[in-house]
Amino acid sequence: MKKDKAKLLLQAPKGMHDILPENYIFYQAVFDKAEEIASHYGFQFIQTPILENTDLFTASLGASTDIVEKQMYTLKTKGGGNLALRPEGTAPIMRSYIEHGMHTRPQPVMLWYKGSFFRHENPQKGRFREFQQFGLEIIGEPKPISETIIVRVLTLILEELGVGPIIVHINSLGDKECRSLYRKNLVNYYRKKTKDICKDCLRRLKENPLRLLDCKEQKCGEIKQAAPQMVDYLCPPCKEHFKEVLESFDSSEIPYFLDNHLVRGLDYYSRTVFEIFEDREERDDALASGGRYDYLARTLGRKDIPAVGGAIGVERVVQLMMDKKITPKQKKLPKIFFIHLGAAAKHKSLKIIEMLRKAHLAVNHSIGKDSLRGQLKLASKLNMSYALILGQKETLENSIIVRDMDSDNQETVKIDELVENIKNKLK
Ligand SMILES: [Zn+2]
Ligand SMILES: [Zn+2]
Repeated sequence: MKKDKAKLLLQAPKGMHDILPENYIFYQAVFDKAEEIASHYGFQFIQTPILENTDLFTASLGASTDIVEKQMYTLKTKGGGNLALRPEGTAPIMRSYIEHGMHTRPQPVMLWYKGSFFRHENPQKGRFREFQQFGLEIIGEPKPISETIIVRVLTLILEELGVGPIIVHINSLGDKECRSLYRKNLVNYYRKKTKDICKDCLRRLKENPLRLLDCKEQKCGEIKQAAPQMVDYLCPPCKEHFKEVLESFDSSEIPYFLDNHLVRGLDYYSRTVFEIFEDREERDDALASGGRYDYLARTLGRKDIPAVGGAIGVERVVQLMMDKKITPKQKKLPKIFFIHLGAAAKHKSLKIIEMLRKAHLAVNHSIGKDSLRGQLKLASKLNMSYALILGQKETLENSIIVRDMDSDNQETVKIDELVENIKNKLK
């Protein structure tokens, strides 16, 4: 085998990563907190497939978006179908809502989801090609209260994880009535500046003018600052909607910043769009983002269905928790270490471990290690309070040694009385 091929064999694919046992507690903390708060606010779990028909994303996200043009992982099935690894969660959920006739259920339908998403981007800090998201959708509700619920739940999750203070950047993109006039004016403005803008902006001007406001190039900065702003073009119903969103943010004490340059990359957004950041001088990527997408159903061949959604980028939140040295509380940290000596004891081990599980006593062990010294060493390294030692003699006598790891005192206990003995000690 060639050297670089052998190296590739032992590497996760570029931009993808393993979640190791010591890091899983962070992911678990994010998902547990998110699920707890989302359920409390009335969201229900939904899971859609990792693969969808490629057309679902080309139709809904827009053919000239970066995601569809460059970032989708697609594959041809043996039957000749075209599937894509999902690059985002909203279009699949709208597909599911329509497919299962969820419009006949009491509206709005409130859903949460989690899982892996895939985009073929250049990997950088906090940005991966396979990434975890936790998302929320409220489908079937046109009123601004759904924006507030989505943003409130997302900010609560972040705050309770110890991330923050946070700030919500918010903007309105208007609707089909007012956005086209704005787009026209924006294009007219930029047409006079084609000599001064970057290459990407020239392309955006042709394909997706709203994305001009997204440019991070320095040379485009001043031009962007002086560009016409959507907020000045909102039609009366859009203006009223945006005003109500902001008023309800005020009364829910959600900290926000009116960001006239916030556009979001996807075609299906209408009216409200938002991104949630940690509130500090140096701004990283958003921790969460989303918006209203009343026109998404129409891109899938149905009439408009009012809806709002948002999602948390789990890797970014985990990274921030690690940077801030936030240690998530571990669930049921085991304080007991099980040690076995000899073949007979090894065979009996699983029975005793199972007995402890049924009694809800979490236990650590090292079935692979055979020496007493090695196992005791591990027990003290893991800061265990008690070690249970099952030797040959104990195995024959149906008993076990319970050793206090701090004082090194120990006593022999009948197996039948083990659970009660430990429960008394842990009190
Ligand atoms: Zn530019
Ligand atoms: Zn409008």
